[in-house]
Amino acid sequence: MHIDAKNLENNSLIEGDICIVGAGAAGISMAMEWNNTPHKVILLEGGGFKYEDEMQELYAGKSTGQHYYPMKSIRLHYFGGTTGHWAGWCAVFDEIDFKKRDWIPQSGWPITLADINPFYPRAQRYVEVDKDDFTLDHWLKKDKSFKPFPLDETKVWSKMWQFSPPTRFGEKYKDSIVNSRNVHLYTYANVVDIAADESVSAIREVTVKNLAGKQHRVRAKYFILACCSVQNARLLLASNKQAKNGLGNDHDKVGRNFMEHLEMKTSSLWVADPADINLYKMDFGKTKARAELAIGEKLQEKYKILNGTSSLTPLEIAIDRPAFIEIWQDEENALKKGIAKYDETKKQPTKLDIPKGFKAYELFTRMEQAPNPNSRITLDTEKDALGMPRAKLHWELTHLERDSLRDINRIIGQEVGRASMGRVKIYDYLQKDGDPEWPSFTGGGWHHMGTTRMSEDPKQGVTDANCKVHGIRNLYVAGASNFVTAGAVNPTLTLIALTMRLSDELKKKIKK
Ligand SMILES: Cc1cc2nc3c(=O)[nH]c(=O)nc-3n(C[C@H](O)[C@H](O)[C@H](O)COP(=O)(O)OP(=O)(O)OC[C@H]3O[C@@H](n4cnc5c(N)ncnc54)[C@H](O)[C@@H]3O)c2cc1C
Repeated sequence: MHIDAKNLENNSLIEGDICIVGAGAAGISMAMEWNNTPHKVILLEGGGFKYEDEMQELYAGKSTGQHYYPMKSIRLHYFGGTTGHWAGWCAVFDEIDFKKRDWIPQSGWPITLADINPFYPRAQRYVEVDKDDFTLDHWLKKDKSFKPFPLDETKVWSKMWQFSPPTRFGEKYKDSIVNSRNVHLYTYANVVDIAADESVSAIREVTVKNLAGKQHRVRAKYFILACCSVQNARLLLASNKQAKNGLGNDHDKVGRNFMEHLEMKTSSLWVADPADINLYKMDFGKTKARAELAIGEKLQEKYKILNGTSSLTPLEIAIDRPAFIEIWQDEENALKKGIAKYDETKKQPTKLDIPKGFKAYELFTRMEQAPNPNSRITLDTEKDALGMPRAKLHWELTHLERDSLRDINRIIGQEVGRASMGRVKIYDYLQKDGDPEWPSFTGGGWHHMGTTRMSEDPKQGVTDANCKVHGIRNLYVAGASNFVTAGAVNPTLTLIALTMRLSDELKKKIKK
């Protein structure tokens, strides 16, 4: 069922069993899990069914620290959320991502990969990569042209990625939700405040507003915030009538540890031709799966580095290619053209002096950033058109990121050399000692994580192992804001798997 909240009588009271705030990857997959159940599900979406500039403007905000994309264009504000722009790259987290690693401050989830694994197949269905699994063995059997590099796989191994069409959740799942009998989608229903009971131990209702000047209240047994990492933190911080620092923020953790994946050109790989790189090749629009070079757990521990993987692009194509952070500074361009539609295949190769008998590739490394409490979302004094304080981002990187980028490429170089395949030349910016500036092409993949991190200890995190906000019995968070560390790979598949787990947990609770 679909209701436009602009057409409701002002001050309406909406009631249901569960209330999901935000209809993006997390919110829609959650709602779909509850479709055709006896429970009344209220799905509140701030925007309508398509892009509108005045809605997007509600996301505008300032950023300080490490240079980032304009806040207005980093997420989409309408039904389907940022899946309207995402590129669909999917891979699963590694065991090490969940472990406490002594060399990474604040690492260690209260759950393990084994807790998430059972939910990946369901998550894969939502992003339409459900026919295959992510193991190298599976793909070696499936595609005989795939040959892994002859490397010691305890040191450098081939990690598989798959590519969603990419599924645009706002298109793919619109009919199921609009025609559902028990899921009630309200568009133009921006949540601007969450009200708790007197003891701040349960949520009573949320307030929604829209630009037509209407305001309504929504009551439910359970509330799930699924607005993405920046907006989840903003909403909790701004809901400060009963708790002066914001809900779930008794220990000043909401908004902290904002994490991105660094996505950087890091080195060149020179191999003797013919090198069989089919397994590692990206053929835009055609590739169903491909591998990236990943570092074994023992070496990550030995060199005290972050988890990351490197992909290969022919150097003639990659060498002059501007980084996304340089291309997508113009927010109008990014929003209207669609960030993910940037077409690399149209780029003309640069003529390079590559010696006969060799092939050269650029290694592009994507890597987790370490949790850092100073990297954070706070509230600005400036307000948006609905009267909500705007979100402010301070993105901050540390030495650990720079050292890890260098070491990942050094390890790949050593292993490629040992296997007599070729040589790796690490780019200059990673070779400098001391505290040099990060180069202008330092950027991330628009992957926002960590602002309501999980922890068993309420003093160390915002949510518990079941994504419930500590101290508030009916408030949950869905999405990558729960992530304690970022993993090496893109977050959406894992955030949907975590949402499936949360959905099952809530179904058990509501039955009781
Ligand atoms: C250019 C680009 C490429 C990307 N490529 C990849 C990729 O290849 N692989 C990958 O894994 N990830 C990728 N991502 C990241 C991916 O898009 C996000 O991880 C994912 O969309 C997050 O899902 P979400 O549901 O948490 O947030 P969103 O998808 O952003 O959804 C949040 C929803 O909440 C709504 N909302 C927000 N605030 C409120 C409020 N106060 N009240 C009511 N509703 C509200 C929004 O309108 C939106 O519909 C990419 C992102 C971008 C920008």
